Amino acid sequence: MLFVAPSGESVLIDTGNPGAAAVRDADRILAAAQDAGITQIDHLITTHWHGDHFGGLAELASRIPVKHFVDHGVSVQANPQTDEFFQKIYPALYSQAAHTIAKPGDRIPMTGVDWRVVASAGEVLRQPLSDAGRPNPYCAATQPQNPDPSENAQSVGSFVMFGRFRAVHLGDLTWNKEMDRMCPANLLGTADLFFVSHHGQPISNSPALVHALQSRVAIMNSGTRKGGQPDAMKILHSAPGLEDLWQVHFSLLSGQEYTVPGVFIANLLDDQQPSMPMAPMAPPPPGPGVAPPPQHNGTAYWIKVSAQTDGSFTVTNARNGFSKTYRNLAETN
Ligand SMILES: [Zn+2]
Repeated sequence: MLFVAPSGESVLIDTGNPGAAAVRDADRILAAAQDAGITQIDHLITTHWHGDHFGGLAELASRIPVKHFVDHGVSVQANPQTDEFFQKIYPALYSQAAHTIAKPGDRIPMTGVDWRVVASAGEVLRQPLSDAGRPNPYCAATQPQNPDPSENAQSVGSFVMFGRFRAVHLGDLTWNKEMDRMCPANLLGTADLFFVSHHGQPISNSPALVHALQSRVAIMNSGTRKGGQPDAMKILHSAPGLEDLWQVHFSLLSGQEYTVPGVFIANLLDDQQPSMPMAPMAPPPPGPGVAPPPQHNGTAYWIKVSAQTDGSFTVTNARNGFSKTYRNLAETN
């Protein structure tokens, strides 16, 4: 996710997948940077130390200057590749730049944009943001899930204010951490744009978060077989005030029953089926021996959001050119 302020200052959240995919994903990020007219990344937030979030970091940093690295600190999940990256490769990168271990309440400095860190390293900001702090009526319908000891719960979460426009990005933060932040009082308030958490998986995206935000638009960074399961889609489709859900990829886990119209989806499968099954596909079980996910190595399309300080914004699907403007209703009425 690349954010660019009118000043030209930029924040990139996460860098894509490891291994052979690192070059592919760095290419995609650089294409977005070029489209935005920037020649450096001012702040790179790595939400957490899972491969799909930091795998392209070294590749990207070798191809565009990164001025400031932000993360939650050391990984809580032992993993030889992550540990080697954290001990050797990452320090060599941030020693040439600035490095911040984020704490809830921190600000990322950006002219004209108030960027607040609201979660990091398993801690959430306990003070309400500006006008937030009212009792959250959606807590009653949200039961806690099993504790999540993984890196997901450590995610750096951001609340971004640009004039009257507000956006929320919580990385892969999981359900119970959402409740810490949102129950019994909603300490985030509302947001125009919700970047759906955790690729649209149902171990995140509680009603206490998704329904209380009252977002007009949600954008889901789903994979072809990651996120978009029925339980998460039902919560998104029933979110009060949500006008549209946009998706980075079509997910087989939605099927026709739960997916959004294709016009709101940026990327299809490389091997597109002639017809879409009505039923959602069950997620593959974890562990070895699972068939590889369907590939999407072909042309990648982004979803672009252009926001104004009056709170209005336009969302565009780069694949088909479909575009929709969400006007500030208070101004037009
Ligand atoms: Zn992830």
